[in-house]
Amino acid sequence: MSSRFSIAIHGGAGTLIKGQMTEEKEKAYRATLKEAMDKAYLILEKKGSALDAVEQAVIVLENSPLFNAGKGSVFTAKGDHEMDAAIMCGKQMDAGAVSLVSGIKNPISLSRTVMEKSPHVFLAGSGAMEFAKTQDFKLKKEEYFYDEFRYQQWQEIKDTDLFQLDHSEYKKSKFGTVGAVACDQEGNVAAATSTGGMTNKNWGRIGDTPLIGAGIYANNKTCAVSCTGSGEYFIRGVVAYDVSCLMEYKNFSLEEAANEVIHSRLPKINGDGGLIAVDAKGNISMPFNTEGMYRGIRNSEGENRVAIYED
Ligand code: ASP
Repeated sequence: MSSRFSIAIHGGAGTLIKGQMTEEKEKAYRATLKEAMDKAYLILEKKGSALDAVEQAVIVLENSPLFNAGKGSVFTAKGDHEMDAAIMCGKQMDAGAVSLVSGIKNPISLSRTVMEKSPHVFLAGSGAMEFAKTQDFKLKKEEYFYDEFRYQQWQEIKDTDLFQLDHSEYKKSKFGTVGAVACDQEGNVAAATSTGGMTNKNWGRIGDTPLIGAGIYANNKTCAVSCTGSGEYFIRGVVAYDVSCLMEYKNFSLEEAANEVIHSRLPKINGDGGLIAVDAKGNISMPFNTEGMYRGIRNSEGENRVAIYED
């Protein structure tokens, strides 16, 4: 049994465009990251579960238009929003995921409901929406998800074959997916990830975020992981599970495994992005191979910080 507890969150990795980042905007990003982290920390401090902590942290980030998840999700090629989310608990390795959902204020809570109230792990599209109705999820109108900045991004590449990751020039992008990992006082780990995907993505495109093993994974024996980056590469690299495998089969430490995957294996297949990971002793690792990653860490030993660039 462990008593050390910790939480880490991310709001997406990528090349952060300095010109687009005003002092005011940076302050807002930092404040929202801190709010999400503090909310989760409080839960852990009161002996709450890692699962509750990661869900609540992600809800704060989904409710903010600053990040590409929930409110403020990117536009699809059709001009609407299709969101993906997943949650996983390391104790019994329970998992829930949803994909291609729209109108749902907090897709992360829908994924938890799939995990807890259905016999399935992953529901997509109209089936996921039907399930949401049976569970009394109220639908928000399209306007709720609208964000002017994301709309302008879509206008730039709409009617082309391009699809892009959240910010800026093609392939030099910021990924605005959000995620959280936590270790509670019982030594249970959990992970949660939520995203609007990629601007101008094709109908039906699903990234790594809701795929157990690719964008998310949790197992008390090894670690809990939440990823952000170019989903197509994270799927091929089975990134989150790969971190766990290096720990389980090769006895890597959390830090060694996370670094090996993000700095060595992923670049070999041209993948860019980052991840946050925690083990059952409360250690945290947050590597990224992009210019920055919105992130935060707080633990019971007093570490408490948010960061954006390599600082
Ligand atoms: N991984 C996400 C996706 O491909 C994008 C992101 O991290 O922002 O849908």
